Amino acid sequence: MAIKKKKMAKKVVKKKVTKKKVAKKVTKKKVAKKVTKKKVAKKVTKKKVAKKVTKKKVAKKVTKKKVVVKKGQTPAEYDKVLFKTILEVVRKTSTEMPDDVQKVILKALATEAKATTAEYAMDIIAKNIEIARTKSQPICQDTGTLIFNIYHPVGFNQGKFSKIVKKAVVKATEMGYLRQNSVDTLTGENKGMNIGLGHPVMNFHEHNKKGLDVKLILKGGGSENMSIQYSLPNVPLNAGRDLDGVRKVILDGLVKAQGKGCGPGILGICIGSDRGEGYHHAKEQFLRTMDDISPVKELAALEKDIVESANKLGIGPMGFGGKTTLLGCKICVMNRLPASYFVSISYMCWASRRQGAAVKADGSIGKWLY
Ligand code: SF4
Repeated sequence: MAIKKKKMAKKVVKKKVTKKKVAKKVTKKKVAKKVTKKKVAKKVTKKKVAKKVTKKKVAKKVTKKKVVVKKGQTPAEYDKVLFKTILEVVRKTSTEMPDDVQKVILKALATEAKATTAEYAMDIIAKNIEIARTKSQPICQDTGTLIFNIYHPVGFNQGKFSKIVKKAVVKATEMGYLRQNSVDTLTGENKGMNIGLGHPVMNFHEHNKKGLDVKLILKGGGSENMSIQYSLPNVPLNAGRDLDGVRKVILDGLVKAQGKGCGPGILGICIGSDRGEGYHHAKEQFLRTMDDISPVKELAALEKDIVESANKLGIGPMGFGGKTTLLGCKICVMNRLPASYFVSISYMCWASRRQGAAVKADGSIGKWLY
């Protein structure tokens, strides 16, 4: 019995030892698992952190590309410099006639017969231009609609730029470079700042260059009233859907404008496109210099012919009669739908104000574009 009991006791002890060993093994395994899990978690966290850091680095690079800020300059400092640049573009556009336009005006003055009303009118125009430049005051009391054309690189922040432009326009108005010219169409209210729905006009164009170019046109209201659009064929004018038909409607538009719109004028014309885009492209022609000739042979010939024919009409400056009815004519062509053939004619007065600046990386003016 005693021997049996001893054997039983040994077995119990063995079992206990085995259980303990198993328990130890399980614990070890559990611990090992925990450790592995922790290691994995650490690795995942490290990877996540690495990813975040990489993302931040990429974001930083993208931001740097977008802003094109000069090294050592904060974005706020860049904005300040850019504001001054836009203000100067507005001032110069309003007060200084581009050299190429002034040259054509002086040439026209020289061609008018001496001691005629036409010569007198052209002389006043030439003198106005000089006084405005010397005194840095608007060339004409109507400082017109501000039409900005902005050529920018990929990733450019248009919203931020628009805010700076509006701020500069308000400042230019306060400083007297612009007349308080923008009114609420329905109520007639003028807030005196030249900003509001659709004012100023801003056309953004993305280009493949790093730099920023800002161009501005001031489009007088009286001349805008004389702009006109034709849909060909036009039966009363016997104008068909060809360049002869185009010529007929352009000259008809010019005759209709006589005495109004502050001639001698400059025509910006778009053949084709739809009604809205047609006028848009017609106005874009005012960004071309006076000596610029269309690269399309037929259009270059038509531009020359229109100016020569117009100046034989005898309408003259301000409609007083004389040799100068038109200072220039710039024509472009766009595709159209088979159903339509529009000729959009934008009439610009003698006060053809345009200027542009290439903007440097720090926001300052690099060079004048006209
Ligand atoms: S149409 Fe031209 S010239 Fe005439 S008032 Fe207006 S801006 Fe001046």
